Amino acid sequence: MAEQLLSLDEALAKVRAALPMKGMAALRADRDDPALDRSAMDGAALRVADGDRPRRLLGTLYAGDDPSIFTVGPGDAVRIMTGAALPAGADAVVPVEELRLEGGTLWPQRLPRSGEAIRKQGLQAREGDELLPEGSSFTATRSGLAAQVGSQPSKLRRIRVGIASTGDELKGSPLPHQIRDSNGPMLTALAHRLGADALNLPSLPDDPEALRDRLSNLGDVEVLLTSGGVSMGEKDHLPSVLRELGADLLFHKIRLKPGKPMLVALLGDHVILGLPGNPQSAYLNALLFLPLVLARLEGTPERDPWRWGRLVEAVKNLGDRPLLLPCTRQGENLRPLRSKGSGDLIALAQADVCAWIPEGGMEAGATKYLDIL
Ligand code: AMP
Ligand code: MG
Repeated sequence: MAEQLLSLDEALAKVRAALPMKGMAALRADRDDPALDRSAMDGAALRVADGDRPRRLLGTLYAGDDPSIFTVGPGDAVRIMTGAALPAGADAVVPVEELRLEGGTLWPQRLPRSGEAIRKQGLQAREGDELLPEGSSFTATRSGLAAQVGSQPSKLRRIRVGIASTGDELKGSPLPHQIRDSNGPMLTALAHRLGADALNLPSLPDDPEALRDRLSNLGDVEVLLTSGGVSMGEKDHLPSVLRELGADLLFHKIRLKPGKPMLVALLGDHVILGLPGNPQSAYLNALLFLPLVLARLEGTPERDPWRWGRLVEAVKNLGDRPLLLPCTRQGENLRPLRSKGSGDLIALAQADVCAWIPEGGMEAGATKYLDIL
C-alpha cells in the first residue's frame, strides 16, 4: 500500500497550529485625530463670507505653531502651512497657487469654498475609538499607528536562526569521496534574506552524541535549521535523537519532491526544521517553512509565497508526489531547466523560480511557482 504522507498544506497547517501568533495589544485613539482643525495645504486661512475681496495679512502659522496667536476677523487672512492648526475665525484655506500677495495684502484669485483644504478635528477618529483589535499582526504601518496614538512602539527584533549541516562527508578541502558543505552557507543566506539573525553553526558529524549535545545547548537560537540526517539511512540520527530528548515531532515526511524526509519539531522553546540533505530539498523546504515560522514568532503577517505563471512546455512527473521544478522566468513564462534531481544545486542556482508540477505531470499552461530569492 502507498505510504500515506502529509500534503504540503497539511504540514504547513500543523506548523501554524503549533505556533500560535502573539499579536499586538488593541490600539485606541488617545485623542481626536486630527486633534484640532488643520490645514491640508500651504496657503491662506481666511473667511468664506469675505468672498474674493483682498485680505489683510496678519502673519504666518507653521506646522507645530500654537494657532491661538491669531484670530481671523472680517477681511483678515493668515498664511498657513500644511499641518498647521487653523486659527479661530477662519473657515477655509485657499492654496498658495490661487493667491496673489502684494505687500501686506492677499488677493484670492477665486471665491473660497467653505471648509476647503481643512482637515476637520476628529475627521479620522474620535478619542477612545478602537483603531485595531487586540491580536492584530505586526506590520510597519501598525508600528507607525502605535507611535501616533502614543502606545509603546513594538520592539523590532530579528529571530535568531542557527544553521547546522550534518554529515561525515562534509569537508573544507574534500577528497574525491567527500563534498563541501553548500547547504550551510545557502541556508544562512536565505535566513538572512528572510530577515532573521542568521548564524551558520559548525557542521555536525553523523554521531548521535554530537547531535544530542548540539540540540541540548541551543542557547539563544530560537529556530534551528539542520540539513541532512533525516531520511532512512543508517546514519540518519536526527529523528531518534529528537524523540530521545522529548521533542514534539509535528511531522516527519511530506508528499513533496524533492524533500520527502522533511521534519519539524518543537524542542522546548526551540523550533527545529530538519531539512533533508540534498541541496534542492534543503533549500526548497526552508523556503516553504522558514517564512511561516518566522512570521509566527515575530507576530508578522504570513505571506503567500506562491505566484502564478505559465509553464512553456509539458513536464512529466511520475510517482505520487508534486514536484518543484527549477525554471527560468521571463514575464509569466516559466521554462524548465534540465534539473538532474534533488542533488542538483547547479540547476537550482541557475533558476529564477521553482514551478509546481502536480502528480503525473502537466501539459504546458498555468501553474503556481515560488521565487527562489
Ligand atoms: P542525507 O539527507 O544526510 O542523507 O543527505 C542526502 C544527500 O545530500 C547526500 O548526498 C549528502 O552528501 C548531501 N548533503 C548532505 N548535507 C549536505 C550539505 N550540507 N551540503 C551539500 N550536500 C549535502
Ligand atoms: Mg547525511
